[in-house]
Amino acid sequence: MQSGLINAIGNTPLIKLRYPSESTGCEIYGKAEFLNPGGSVKDRAAKYIILDALKNKKIEPGGLIIEGTAGNTGIGLAICGRSLGIRTHIYMPDTQSEEKKSVLRISGAKLFEIPAVPFKDPDHYVHTAERAAREAKKNEQHGVFYANQWDNLANREGHIHSTGSEIWSQTNGQIDAFICAIGTGGTITGVAEFLKSKNNNAVTAIADPMGANMYSWVKSGELSTEGSSVIEGIGQGRVTGNIADGKIDDAYRVDDQEALSCLFKLAETDGLILGGSSGINVAGAMKLARDLKKGSTIVTILCDSGFRYESKIYNRSYLQSKNLPCPDWL
Ligand code: PMP
Repeated sequence: MQSGLINAIGNTPLIKLRYPSESTGCEIYGKAEFLNPGGSVKDRAAKYIILDALKNKKIEPGGLIIEGTAGNTGIGLAICGRSLGIRTHIYMPDTQSEEKKSVLRISGAKLFEIPAVPFKDPDHYVHTAERAAREAKKNEQHGVFYANQWDNLANREGHIHSTGSEIWSQTNGQIDAFICAIGTGGTITGVAEFLKSKNNNAVTAIADPMGANMYSWVKSGELSTEGSSVIEGIGQGRVTGNIADGKIDDAYRVDDQEALSCLFKLAETDGLILGGSSGINVAGAMKLARDLKKGSTIVTILCDSGFRYESKIYNRSYLQSKNLPCPDWL
């Protein structure tokens, strides 16, 4: 079956970020992933996961994809699925933004909101999704596929072949460093794999929010953390299948104050209205820039749009209730 939509994913512009570049003396670029059809970087993972499942006959048109997701992967799976005649069931923590929930429903997913509990709890949304996939297999004629973006290496593979190679061509191979946050780890390890295959000296780093374990894992091999973050879609506590063996050199910790201040400044100076994880990424890129030679070229990911978080990080009363920075224009 042909899907026109699948071919519209990727090939996003690389935007030079004015304020981050001017204030660090480096050239900082953001890959405009919010321009994908489903509005986020996760369209790429969804595309490669579905195509891989179809190729390996794990599902066929008429079948059902099930996934646990903070939202964006679900949106990608739902639109790619619809374009290929596959239905989507999504299990999502009930703490995520209403905007993402309504986009998921419009995109055609059946949405199950799950109370947010720690990963070790069997009722965590990821385990609930996996169980639901096992149950659904009994009644489906055309296959049920548990996407498992965390451990399914088609996710990383997608970023090797699309995001990584696009960044390499868009910078004409003149890239000194790449940094981004981790949800599943598909983006960072996929891009890192491609860049290192071309130039092993290119630096790869994680921008980690508070409450996530990836900073300490890179720095000391231990999984530990402090603090917490309100930023959605990122913040990993374990070494997923996609993170393991990733070619990651370094890590920077970014707190929500830094990320949101960076996000609002980007809106003011660059006209970019971005989601919270992009704030972690760009603030992380600025920290990394200060450790590199002036004039270095650094690339990061602009994961999704701020319009997906109008009721949260672009809402004055929400920001005030969390003691987070709020610009006077909001
Ligand atoms: N930012 C946002 C908004 C996301 O939804 C995600 C994925 N959950 C990421 C960043 C992280 O991407 P990855 O899963 O490739 O690590």
